[in-house]
Amino acid sequence: MTHDLLGRHRAVLPDWLALYYEDPLELTHGEGRYVWDAAGRRYLDFFGGILTTMTAHALPEVAKAVAGQAGRLLHSSTLYLNRPMVDLAERIAQLSGIPDARVFFTTSGTEANDTALLLATAYRRSDTVLAMRNSYHGRSFGAVGITGNRGWSPTSLSPLRTLYVHGGVRTRGPYAHLDDREFTAACVADLKDLLGHTRPPAALIAEPVQGVGGFTSPPDGLYAAFRDVLHERGILWISDEVQTGWGRTGDHFWGWQAHGRSGPPDIVTFAKGIGNGMSIGGVIARAEIMNCLDANSISTFGGTQVTMAAGLANLTHLLEHDLQGNARRVGGLLIERLRAVAARSPHVREVRGRGLMIGIELTRPGTDEADPRAASAALEEARAAGLLIGKGGGHDTSVLRIAPPLSLTVAEAEEGAAILDRVLSSL
Ligand code: PMP
Repeated sequence: MTHDLLGRHRAVLPDWLALYYEDPLELTHGEGRYVWDAAGRRYLDFFGGILTTMTAHALPEVAKAVAGQAGRLLHSSTLYLNRPMVDLAERIAQLSGIPDARVFFTTSGTEANDTALLLATAYRRSDTVLAMRNSYHGRSFGAVGITGNRGWSPTSLSPLRTLYVHGGVRTRGPYAHLDDREFTAACVADLKDLLGHTRPPAALIAEPVQGVGGFTSPPDGLYAAFRDVLHERGILWISDEVQTGWGRTGDHFWGWQAHGRSGPPDIVTFAKGIGNGMSIGGVIARAEIMNCLDANSISTFGGTQVTMAAGLANLTHLLEHDLQGNARRVGGLLIERLRAVAARSPHVREVRGRGLMIGIELTRPGTDEADPRAASAALEEARAAGLLIGKGGGHDTSVLRIAPPLSLTVAEAEEGAAILDRVLSSL
């Protein structure tokens, strides 16, 4: 059955729509932290389909909210009052830490970042943007231009003038040997140098922890140091929280809070997990910035009633069950277990992460050379052993990415670590 589906997929969908696994997986249902395939095999889900399942699979509150709203009114238009949209916007504005926050909903992270660019470039009347090297912000025409990880860009054309800044990747590159303070100082000097040679940029956009780039994070406080430089020049700071939002990093609700010394970002973008699989993205900005657009309405499907109802139920569950705290506790334990596993494997260069956002970087034994083949083999082996993980990292895709639903239990963390132990020793 799945093979028939694969043939039909290949015949009708674009060739560039990548599928994981030599024998691609068709998932048919899920529960908690587990998913099942069409053959009835169960998998522990350590990737949540790239962090889209934020709390748990088939969360009853979300299923009920979706069914309830779908049964009452399936409708989408920003031309009428929409109670679930107002309810969710109020919760998000209040959680954002941004004063006088306004929220605009989209259907994806890409659109959220496109909207943030629209706001920042219009507000600042500049088409120049700063982005981080190795970043990923989406693949629309606008988002491609700010995605520093050029290997992920389907086109090199861009409507923006983009300058790429050092700092998102700590483990490789010319500053890798520096300690936290020196690294931060070097990146700030690089930023100032760039600013000395360009027309005034609209904004700097950055992921607090680079997601697609391999779960790399700069030293805490780097973006606060950047912000001081930007603030003096009126340049906006956009934090892309598509992967790091909603407590994923454990210690903080938003990734930027590890850099919040000088206050919140001017603009925050979010997506993925908030809908627990439903498509919600969005932008949060101070009213002054959000309202700078000379527009009436710029979305039909952003904030559709059924997705907003899902998001509200999901966020309520997350907060009521302190899943951020769970990410900190269970994620901390999982990182510890994986570091012990890694110490026995000559393939692992580093286990890094925060909360339930954990990367295992693979290199060829005895060298510093990225090993994308080992990463692909590990993905296959893990799947065969009943564990779904992801991969990413730089241009070489040699980092195993682990980002389970935030309700992961200790027993499930132990189960996944034991499988990864077997996987890494089989390489
Ligand atoms: N920003 C980040 C940090 C992401 O990881 C992604 C998706 N991987 C996006 C933006 C784009 O989101 P979407 O795929 O929902 O358009």
